[in-house]
Amino acid sequence: MMMRRVAPPASASEGAGDGVGGGSAPLPGWLETLLSTRFFLACGAHPASPRNECNMFCLDCPSSPAFCYYCRSHRHQSHRVIQIRRSSYHDVVRVTEVEDVLDISGVQTYVINSAKVLFLNERPQPRGAGAAAGKAAASPYNCEICARALLDPFRFCSLGCKLVETKTSGRRGATAAAGGEVVVGGNEEAGGPSKSVAGARPQGRRRKGIPQRAPFGS
Ligand SMILES: [Zn+2]
Ligand SMILES: [Zn+2]
Ligand SMILES: [Zn+2]
Repeated sequence: MMMRRVAPPASASEGAGDGVGGGSAPLPGWLETLLSTRFFLACGAHPASPRNECNMFCLDCPSSPAFCYYCRSHRHQSHRVIQIRRSSYHDVVRVTEVEDVLDISGVQTYVINSAKVLFLNERPQPRGAGAAAGKAAASPYNCEICARALLDPFRFCSLGCKLVETKTSGRRGATAAAGGEVVVGGNEEAGGPSKSVAGARPQGRRRKGIPQRAPFGS
């Protein structure tokens, strides 16, 4: 069975590449839903069936929750469905299942069970920012958002981190255009200058004994 992508005619004029070019192609609306969906729960509609874990997501019904193998054959038979898999308790998706519907450029791929996969979301890192910074130093490549060390020269560790970047840069553009104050604040600090923050954050750790005393006057 062939899956054909229907490309909007407008994008055809942009270059010879097959939709791969350009760093900041807009990500599809269903991506955010996909990333916030909880997978691998037992399907309420098929509680007694052996393959009832909800590990499917339908691109044509993004508002429907994750569903199982049986639900797929009942309700999403001719839809574009992607299957979520697990690696060490983290959700991954095969590159071959999303590369035609999603711009995955910049996202680190991993080979798991001889298939190339992407992680859906950022994985929590042991011992917080300090450890991350230490780890980061060991690798020449780091996720631009969460600073996780990467194996190869990619920009993001996961689709989730790519989405964060896309959203903040989009918002930055929007606020700049509106001429208003930049309200990006929190996200900027968390995601932005990860390298310099690592060195400049010693006071964050020692809030144990001294409550609420600002070390520097402002
Ligand atoms: Zn089901
Ligand atoms: Zn569907
Ligand atoms: Zn990341």
